[in-house]
Amino acid sequence: MVAKVISGPEVAEEIRKELRVKIAQLKERGVTPGLAVVLVGEDPASKQYVRNKERACEDLGLYSRTVLLPWDAPEEEVLKAVDTLNADPAIHGFLVQLPLPNHIDENKVIMRIDPAKDADGFHPINVGRMLIGDPLFLPATPHGIQEMLVRSGNDPEGKHVVVVGRSNIVGKPVAAILMQKKKGANATVTVCHSRTRDLASLVRQGDIVVAAIGSPQFITADMIKPGAVVVDVGTNRVDDPTAKRGYRWVGDVDFEAVKEKASAITPVPGGVGPMTIVMLMKNTVIAACRAAGIDHCPPA
Ligand code: NDP
Repeated sequence: MVAKVISGPEVAEEIRKELRVKIAQLKERGVTPGLAVVLVGEDPASKQYVRNKERACEDLGLYSRTVLLPWDAPEEEVLKAVDTLNADPAIHGFLVQLPLPNHIDENKVIMRIDPAKDADGFHPINVGRMLIGDPLFLPATPHGIQEMLVRSGNDPEGKHVVVVGRSNIVGKPVAAILMQKKKGANATVTVCHSRTRDLASLVRQGDIVVAAIGSPQFITADMIKPGAVVVDVGTNRVDDPTAKRGYRWVGDVDFEAVKEKASAITPVPGGVGPMTIVMLMKNTVIAACRAAGIDHCPPA
């Protein structure tokens, strides 16, 4: 069996089309959804993510703002930037790009974000609301994974989903979303991590496997049940002297071998990454709809 490759850009474009309709309705009412990003320091990967977010905003006609603070900015200054965005009516959603430098308490910063503007969905109120099935926003990457599965005809309902990774950003929330008693969810979920015993035998039970480990090509073909659907979240930069830049991006899944065994698979790049950005745009549009008191907001 050769797997169908689920294209992140294609699914993302479908969602962008839906968002354009909502954005036009908002603009008719004089509202331009606004997204801000607080970036502390000059980390090249973070800068690239922020640039991608700015481009995505531009493409959809959203207002975007980047608040750039130096790497050694005191915690108080970061909190002040958060307070300013909380109070700014032109900004409907914003996020603080992680990771933050060690002298800044990440939790303290996240706690300071107004939950109604928390475009990343990382505030404890939003995490709790996600868990009880009444979300204001869903976190972008896990929500993007759910959309990719459903829109590619791989509804998780009734399936055994094995998630490898238990981070607050990907593993835990994707498990929480897919186990909800809801359309596009209703899965039976197993979550594995670095202390899991006999990981391979658990992964082999997965009808759907979500790999969010951060370890290049960790999931090999022998760990995959024939016909399983594989979602690769991993984004690992590996040296490659044959590549123009001297490196390339690979996922957590051995794509070439696994695609011979799975029924569907997401590639890296071109898989989950583009979904993360479009889901962030969606959260911004949802926030703008709510702020404008518009009925029929896209559901979170
Ligand atoms: P974290 O490092 O926060 O979490 C990794 C998880 O993998 C942990 O739960 C860890 O277990 C588990 N793990 C590590 N090694 C093993 C192992 N040998 N066996 C089993 N489990 C293991 O990473 P993130 O969740 O933030 O990100 C995961 C990957 O996804 C990264 O490559 C990241 O770059 C990528 N990513 C991509 C995004 C996108 O938009 N495409 C967005 C976010 C992340 P333990 O908890 O026990 O330590």
